[in-house]
Amino acid sequence: MGEEAPENYNSQEPSGWPRCTLGAARARSRGRLLLEAARDRTVRVWLKRDSGQYWPSIYYVMPSPCSCMSFNPETRRLSIGLDNGTISEFILSEDYNKMTPVRNYQAHQSRVTMILFVLELEWVLSTGQDKLFAWHCSESARRLGGYRTSAVASGLQFDVETRHVFIGDQSGQVTILTLEQDTCTLVTAFRGHTGGVTALCWDPVQRVLFSGSSDHSVIMWDIGGRKGTAIELQGHNDKVQALSYAQHTRQLISCGGDGGIVVWNMDVERQETPEWLDSDSCQKCDQPFFWNFKQMWDSKKIGLRQHHCRKCGKAVCGKCSSKRSSIPLMGFEFEVRVCDSCHEAITDEERAPTATFHDSKHNIVHVHFDATRGWLLTSGTDKVIKLWDMTPVVS
Ligand SMILES: [Zn+2]
Ligand SMILES: [Zn+2]
Repeated sequence: MGEEAPENYNSQEPSGWPRCTLGAARARSRGRLLLEAARDRTVRVWLKRDSGQYWPSIYYVMPSPCSCMSFNPETRRLSIGLDNGTISEFILSEDYNKMTPVRNYQAHQSRVTMILFVLELEWVLSTGQDKLFAWHCSESARRLGGYRTSAVASGLQFDVETRHVFIGDQSGQVTILTLEQDTCTLVTAFRGHTGGVTALCWDPVQRVLFSGSSDHSVIMWDIGGRKGTAIELQGHNDKVQALSYAQHTRQLISCGGDGGIVVWNMDVERQETPEWLDSDSCQKCDQPFFWNFKQMWDSKKIGLRQHHCRKCGKAVCGKCSSKRSSIPLMGFEFEVRVCDSCHEAITDEERAPTATFHDSKHNIVHVHFDATRGWLLTSGTDKVIKLWDMTPVVS
């Protein structure tokens, strides 16, 4: 990815158009097409003209602020979630100059947070501020079923083949359900993050689920069960807010509040981080930690603070873990605490980064990767939509 974006498009600039009132503009780029649904209730479709500029071809006002959208290029079906709980569906004309309302779903009691259209099953999956996951038939608009989540959902993915739905919520939980036509079964629910889940991304080929979180980390869950592992990826200094996956190159793109775009090479075999061991004393030098009053009393030593080596998981004192190292093969792209013996054992080869880092210079809230062109669209809280040519990096 170049330092300069090949085409930056500022949604505030085109004259005559109202501003987005909030930053959470959702947009999808498909080559010459850019769709935008904004908090000021407007839906705009932008076409790239021969001049190389994007010009609006559709301007549509919704009855309520837009909160999310889903676009299916094959059917040109555009589904828009609104603050009032409604999902409105439109079909775009072939020349993208007109959008025709098709149907409305009264899907939720309050703001729709995520929409996923499943063409193969003619289903519309959605989650809302009302803590409900619901699915509707996209032909009849009939409600097929619902499931109450533990908190408001902010990540939604679906595996067409096995009909598993993945719901990540603000409590940090990921819930997996199996959907039938009008019933659902809870498969499992798991937690790995210390913060809320902000985004989910599913790779149907490798059968791995990626979850991004406000705890700054991404976790890769080996759902396919080959190893049942969970690998932590630490590459952001702020909330991870958006994820995208380039299936053909097996690269994960994570974006966050720090403006960072991190491209992870998922072909690399990474190791799970060890469970942190609890010990009353340093597992290297045997000095007692400060809460081990009896041993402290017996040996008349002052207690030390317990730290953990990120590589071996051992409880060690500060003196035995004074050095820092990145451990990319364990997902730590930044330097973390390691014990002295692990520090000696880590080779330079093991320290080679397995991700590339790029600065988008805005607080990214939404991302869309167009695999056919290798373009990445980011939209930020600054209301700016940026298009990045990722071909030098994602290949
Ligand atoms: Zn020690
Ligand atoms: Zn260690």
